[in-house]
Amino acid sequence: MAAKRDYYEVLGVSKSASEEEIKQAYRKLALKYHPDRNKGNPEAEEKFKEATEAYEVLRDPKKRASYDKFGHEGVAGFEGFGRGAYTDFADIFGDFDLGDIFEGFFGSGFGGGTRRKRPRRGADIQYDLTIDLEDAAQGREVQIEIPRNEICTSCGGSGSAAGSKPAVCPLCNGTGQIRQTQGFFSITQTCYKCKGAGKIITSPCRVCGGVGLTMKKRKITVKIPAGVESGSRLKITGEGEQGAQDGDRGDLYVVIHIRKHPLFERHGNDILNMVNISFVVACLGGEIEVPTISGKKAKMKIPPGTENGHIFRLKGNGIPYLGSYGKGDQLVKINIHVPKRLTPKQKELLSEFARLDSESFGTLSSN
Ligand SMILES: [Zn+2]
Ligand SMILES: [Zn+2]
Repeated sequence: MAAKRDYYEVLGVSKSASEEEIKQAYRKLALKYHPDRNKGNPEAEEKFKEATEAYEVLRDPKKRASYDKFGHEGVAGFEGFGRGAYTDFADIFGDFDLGDIFEGFFGSGFGGGTRRKRPRRGADIQYDLTIDLEDAAQGREVQIEIPRNEICTSCGGSGSAAGSKPAVCPLCNGTGQIRQTQGFFSITQTCYKCKGAGKIITSPCRVCGGVGLTMKKRKITVKIPAGVESGSRLKITGEGEQGAQDGDRGDLYVVIHIRKHPLFERHGNDILNMVNISFVVACLGGEIEVPTISGKKAKMKIPPGTENGHIFRLKGNGIPYLGSYGKGDQLVKINIHVPKRLTPKQKELLSEFARLDSESFGTLSSN
């Protein structure tokens, strides 16, 4: 796949372009490359998608700032990108909140005729949560705090200040739609003055400025199931942003990241750790205690003649299978510890051992 083009370049605007300039630029491209007017032209389709993606980021001050700072990385993982089929348009544009430009256009294109502005579903929220490996092994509840749009309590979501009522929009006479002729075809568009509502707020609510929504911080309890992996996405239905015009809430997606553990390495549902044993235990055999992910110690038998690097398997001491029964195993890798300092007595005994060992490799040094 070719490298992603710069969003400003895609829309043909400068980095300092105003919101209005960005909107105009996108509208022009969208009308030109709209698939209904470019049937069987995949290039136009691609251009349309590219422009829509660029617009979706640059129209949102938060996403634009993130993009300016970090580039495409800064806005990666945004829900809704790359959903290809154009039959999904109504859905995509609902999500993307482009109704004020396109609703009339697509409405007629999909047999909808003229429509009043429908309630829009709120945006999804993504939250990145870092947990410990123990949490992934045992599962736990975590409380997170997310900022999100909620219905303004001052105006109850109407956007009008107390005691005032909205007026009928003079531009569309309350229909929410205006008809425009551009060259050889005419399109019905959502009224830009009232944004399709058919009404105009004459005295906006002081708290929300007429939007009907305010930003609030919400605490939400997230149940992390045992067995999650780094990159697992937990969907919490209905905990996203409030939608405009009494639309449904979006969803909250919690993306799990797992911290590196000082002792344990995860391999799928197995966990691997290294234990040191003395060379004497390796030769003669014995019993050792090993740490496990549950926090308890497990006893493990070392058979005589254990080689360095040998891996023993402790069945069922690993990570549970997500949404299923059973667990992975713990893999214990043996590291034979060789003492750096020996007492004269130990040296003497080892030298004696070497003399008796018929399979001895090499000869001893004199000291
Ligand atoms: Zn309000
Ligand atoms: Zn209007």
